[in-house]
Amino acid sequence: MLPAAAALSTAAAALPYREVAEGIFVRFGLHEEVTADNCGAIANIGFIVGDASVAVVDSGTTQQQGLALRQAIADVTDKPISHLVATHVHFDHCFGHSAFADLPLRSIGHRNLPRALAERGAFYVQLLSGICPDFAGTVVVPPNETVEDRLDIDLGNRPLRLKAWPTAHTNTDLTVFDPSTGTLWAGDLLFDQRLPTLDGSLLGWLEVLDSLLAEEVRRVIPGHGAVSDGRAAITAQRRYLETLRDGVRQALADDLDIPATLARLGADDLPDWQVVEDVHGRNIVSAYTELEWE
Ligand SMILES: [Zn+2]
Repeated sequence: MLPAAAALSTAAAALPYREVAEGIFVRFGLHEEVTADNCGAIANIGFIVGDASVAVVDSGTTQQQGLALRQAIADVTDKPISHLVATHVHFDHCFGHSAFADLPLRSIGHRNLPRALAERGAFYVQLLSGICPDFAGTVVVPPNETVEDRLDIDLGNRPLRLKAWPTAHTNTDLTVFDPSTGTLWAGDLLFDQRLPTLDGSLLGWLEVLDSLLAEEVRRVIPGHGAVSDGRAAITAQRRYLETLRDGVRQALADDLDIPATLARLGADDLPDWQVVEDVHGRNIVSAYTELEWE
């Protein structure tokens, strides 16, 4: 049952859920900055249905979006929600968790997630409260179970393999692999269409990309963008990250400081990517502070 007071706002409930593989449903995020209108409905979130129960993978930015997700599940099945998985710390992926707080489920995240939420949660809440009225009522809910390296779960004839990755997009990246359909839920280890945001380690991320697609992966759900076999999307993301790495290394070799590096690389033409403004500049600063220690 949904909480009785769940009056879903139109913005949170507007985006549909689509079945991208048997029993896997995704709400695709918008390629927009966070606004009062979209209230952070910018990431791919959704759920996986097994014979016995349901796993939620990411919950959106607000309690409202989490409640809309619960409604989408109720529209498809009356099986209970047994697992709530956060792919990483970013608010657009796991701040809808409070919509599930009344359920006796396993809430799972990367071993670093509780600390990351403690460090940043209040900042994100303040930021979002100032942007979107729909954020009201949303509280940060840390996982009650963490993954050190790997964790196998089962939804009833539907095993899922969770993997905690070394620092890449963030230091809290967790993926979900569904062997039944060969689907990898990659979270923000893979961006498609929307420019990747670097909040962990540039070199670490490039390394993770080498092993993201294990042999059985036939389909990838990125954190942002379209479902595909992942190959072209990974190639495009690798090209962006490698160009960023090489440009920043050259700037360091030329003794440029951060403003000069931004001036040189910030004007990069990135026609293949969306939501580039601000993000590219932040990525340059992140890469600079990482690579200056090489
Ligand atoms: Zn992210």
